[in-house]
Amino acid sequence: MAPVETRRRRTRQVRVGGVAIGSDAPIIVQSMTNTDTADVEATAKQVAELARAGSELVRVTVNTAAAAAAVAAIRERLDALGCDVPLVGDFHFNGHKLLSQSPDCARALAKYRINPGNVGRGTRHDEQFATMIELACRHEKPVRIGVNWGSLDPDLLTRLMDENARRPEPLEADEVTREALIRSALESAARAEQLGLPGDRIILSCKVSGVQDLIAVYRDLAARCDYPLHLGLTEAGMGSKGIVASSAALAVLLQEGIGDTIRISLTPEPGGERTREVVVAQEILQSMGLRSFAPMVIACPGCGRTTSTTFQELAARIQAFLRERMPAWRGRFPGVEKMRVAVMGCVVNGPGESRHADIGISLPGSGERPVAPVYVDGEKTVTLKGERIAEDFQQLVERYVETRYGEGVRPSRPGEDEPRTIPIKTVDRG
Ligand code: SF4
Repeated sequence: MAPVETRRRRTRQVRVGGVAIGSDAPIIVQSMTNTDTADVEATAKQVAELARAGSELVRVTVNTAAAAAAVAAIRERLDALGCDVPLVGDFHFNGHKLLSQSPDCARALAKYRINPGNVGRGTRHDEQFATMIELACRHEKPVRIGVNWGSLDPDLLTRLMDENARRPEPLEADEVTREALIRSALESAARAEQLGLPGDRIILSCKVSGVQDLIAVYRDLAARCDYPLHLGLTEAGMGSKGIVASSAALAVLLQEGIGDTIRISLTPEPGGERTREVVVAQEILQSMGLRSFAPMVIACPGCGRTTSTTFQELAARIQAFLRERMPAWRGRFPGVEKMRVAVMGCVVNGPGESRHADIGISLPGSGERPVAPVYVDGEKTVTLKGERIAEDFQQLVERYVETRYGEGVRPSRPGEDEPRTIPIKTVDRG
């Protein structure tokens, strides 16, 4: 089936360290630490883990003088580890002071996130905002003007509510609030440009926690400016609720070409890994066909035809194996991130789905012969049997990757030029 094309919205392009955001650049995955930034060791470790999982930018909160003092040391620690992921500083209330008092921090960060709702009230708002923008200009850094539903500039909201009350037909309060979010972002961006920050150093976001509100706000924001947009549902929540709500909101916008960088604000489960938010962001982009990060496992849900847990265990094992091998494969085997691996539960859809994948296995359902045919590039190649089906299939996948994506091997799917050879021998135990 021909893929449905999505056309990205045209924007300016902003460079954050070595990462381009906006326009033709890939949609960038970012994340945020939850360590105390003043703890250099713990924060550098978590940033490195997030980067290793695939986060292309990592944000750290810079909330105290101790946190600001730690940022340059975190950067040095990461550089020593060979981790060049750009660091973004998240500032609220005292960013103007921290950036002024810690020039090392201002230099070590690749971007500053400024929340216009949290830079002071009244005249101090304008002064403190101006200070942060002047520091961004001096250090040649881009900024994200990140407005948030939970910390909307109260002066602006009051002004718009008053204007609305004078209308002959006042809008609903939530419409006014959405307009306030957008105005806060756009007016702050215009002010930043007046203060001398080039327009190609500004990214905008307007985060809310409701799916329909997020879609409405970003559609409107996208139509009213050409700054790159950072997309994310704020306070998405925990577990499947957070994943589903984020996916639902982002999928609609991404399909319309809106969104240049994304972050999934998942609350980790107790003991859960912070890197989960990176994996979810990647999976949203990959399942929409917008980017490829790691080979995809296509697994059927299982049903009454799969009475044992063998099938679930194999699907989970192959998924974990592919993620674990990916860092080693990434540099050596270009294109491996697009590989599709099918793990199917029985003969009903198993052979068909496995043929569509690059490599696939169809496990025996209950009542079927205890054999598992393997399909490579649409052809049945071997049949696995016995106790070690999982290990044998993993080996076949490893060999397939080396053969197909290794140097000098060309693909041979329909429409591609030259044939490739897949020297996979029959593995038949049992
Ligand atoms: S492929 Fe077989 S086991 Fe899997 S869901 Fe379909 S019928 Fe059930």
